Amino acid sequence: MGKVNIGLRGWRFEEDEVFDENGRVRPIGTMPEDTKLKILRLAERLGDPCDGCWLEYGREDPGRCRQGEIIYGDPGAEVLLCRHHEPDFLYWFREAGGKNLAGDDEFAERFHDWFVEGGGAPESYEGIDHVDEDPDNVPTVPDQDEALPGLEEELEEFDEEDLSDLDIDLGDLDR
Ligand SMILES: [Zn+2]
Repeated sequence: MGKVNIGLRGWRFEEDEVFDENGRVRPIGTMPEDTKLKILRLAERLGDPCDGCWLEYGREDPGRCRQGEIIYGDPGAEVLLCRHHEPDFLYWFREAGGKNLAGDDEFAERFHDWFVEGGGAPESYEGIDHVDEDPDNVPTVPDQDEALPGLEEELEEFDEEDLSDLDIDLGDLDR
């Protein structure tokens, strides 16, 4: 057992904190607090468009947005990115002050502001090695059931009041 990505790149989880020996999601209430928050947030964001795409053309042409593949930041202030926008985020994080905002509630907001104001990685900026430049390669992001089998049942068991404490919108999870 070790650290794994679930559904998206970026956040990593202790596999045995999240899944039981049959590969199904454990009861949510038994997860450590930070794992629980991340899992619920992850489930909510799976399938959402990339923040960068959304800011760039989501309003005029939502169909052009790519699905987010990579998630960074803390739950609630997370940034969701496609591979084309990941270098912009990494540049902001490393070179434009983003790092200093790690853990801040406004982390995502500040990145969005910077991006909307024309921020972006220089043409030559190297993101990370795995960035795939093949434009025809359309990534598939698993849906909630595929990435987190059994989560839906666990959510039904989980006290709704606890969920509202966590500011999780169940309606959004039901899609
Ligand atoms: Zn994008």
